[in-house]
Amino acid sequence: MAHIPERTCIACRTKRPKAEMLRLVRTGDGRAALDPQARQPGRGAYLCAAAVCWQAALRGSRLDRALRTALQASTRQALLAALEEHSAVRMRE
Ligand SMILES: [Zn+2]
Repeated sequence: MAHIPERTCIACRTKRPKAEMLRLVRTGDGRAALDPQARQPGRGAYLCAAAVCWQAALRGSRLDRALRTALQASTRQALLAALEEHSAVRMRE
């Protein structure tokens, strides 16, 4: 049986195959970005492709803890916008 890598959602703690999850990566100067291909170097965190999980992760300090940084409000808003954009694109495909 092939090994399917799984990752845990930082919001709901559900384990899912890595390919079904969205990766966020910590970038320079305490920011974070969406990493749709999950290939960027740096500390990453995984979320389900569900708005409820993004909102939970971004509302509290879970994402900060997962990425070991302190995200600014502007970074949180940018991430939420990127996640919504990404999922809208996927649904159109
Ligand atoms: Zn989740």
